Amino acid sequence: MSLIPPFDLTRQYAQIGDAIDAAVLDVLASGKYINGPIVQAFEAEFAQYIGSDHCLGCNSGTDALYLALRALEIGAGDEVITTPFSFFATAETISAVGATPVFVDIHADTFNLNVAQVEAAITPKTKAIMPVHLFGHPVEMTALMAIAQAHNLFVIEDCAQATGACWEGKKVGSIGHIGCFSFFPTKNLGACGDAGAVTTNDAAVAERIRILREHGSRTRYYHEAIGVNSRLDVLQAAVLRVKLQHLDWLNMQRRTVAQRYLDGLAPIPGIVLPHSAKGGMSVWNQFTIRVSGEPDGGERRDRLRQQLQEQGILSMIYYPVPLHQQSVYAGLGYGSNQLPVTEQVAQAVLSLPMFPELEAEQQQQIAYALKESLLD
Ligand SMILES: *Cc1c(COP(=O)(O)O)cnc(C)c1O
Repeated sequence: MSLIPPFDLTRQYAQIGDAIDAAVLDVLASGKYINGPIVQAFEAEFAQYIGSDHCLGCNSGTDALYLALRALEIGAGDEVITTPFSFFATAETISAVGATPVFVDIHADTFNLNVAQVEAAITPKTKAIMPVHLFGHPVEMTALMAIAQAHNLFVIEDCAQATGACWEGKKVGSIGHIGCFSFFPTKNLGACGDAGAVTTNDAAVAERIRILREHGSRTRYYHEAIGVNSRLDVLQAAVLRVKLQHLDWLNMQRRTVAQRYLDGLAPIPGIVLPHSAKGGMSVWNQFTIRVSGEPDGGERRDRLRQQLQEQGILSMIYYPVPLHQQSVYAGLGYGSNQLPVTEQVAQAVLSLPMFPELEAEQQQQIAYALKESLLD
């Protein structure tokens, strides 16, 4: 029995590894390991790719979010509206700057913030909205930006899972005030380690992030702010420059994989298939199905996952515990069933193997295994 992993980075390396090796060896030979022309070249290329005036590389997607919040001077006493259904870093960085995350429920089918519920969550303390383009599906940005403008709020896009996705023809990360990207290896544009970036059209924000990411200093050894050490590593910048050239192709392959799933799984009862909002072009970082039926604490989903595993198919649960139900946020006082869609979705989601090189035959195997398990 051949295993089908949730993702497989070795296939991509087999295809473009020579170019990556050469780029990395060039850096090693150069003797220049911090900042410099390779990082700047990647920043220029990525800014152009996204369609933003500025790109600032940093250590991780988490740092990108943190730096964005700091650059907008969001801190103690401020509220930031976001989704409860995301990777922890989304809320963690809001808390890390001293602000309070305010969670708004999601749409079950796109897994994204329910924009229609955002306005009701705005208070005099609200400073920003942080939408997350989860699993590669763009948030309904036109409606969200209209709300932000009406209430004079910043929008920080968490684009960690959606590099290359578009909302009404514009790349995510170029629509809000700031876009935050992760280049964690399993993201659509993945480095060979940790890396991230911020995009913006606001020159003042760009300058502020440039200072904050280097210990709050503009000139070395002269410090005007309490910053962090969060530079984009030169080796990772070299890798990312190579991979950026392949990103559109890789995202297209992900769309092909997703379409094959959508076609192949449509006739199977007992599951609900994902889709993105009208106007969005998803880049399918994940292909996440929901097990249908009444909430059961995740029992049916866990059983299905186990049955798939017995047939060599490894699926993942993104995310088993919504952010408002994390133990660290008990003090925020969210009651059970306060964000009912999120709570139900967290009990029902299952992310199937998804990577650009996943083969049609493997997907047939997955469809067959799903059918077998659900008819059980
Ligand atoms: C991966 C991810 C992050 C954090 O990125 P890192 O590079 O791992 O720090 C933030 N938000 C979301 C939605 C993510 O998926």
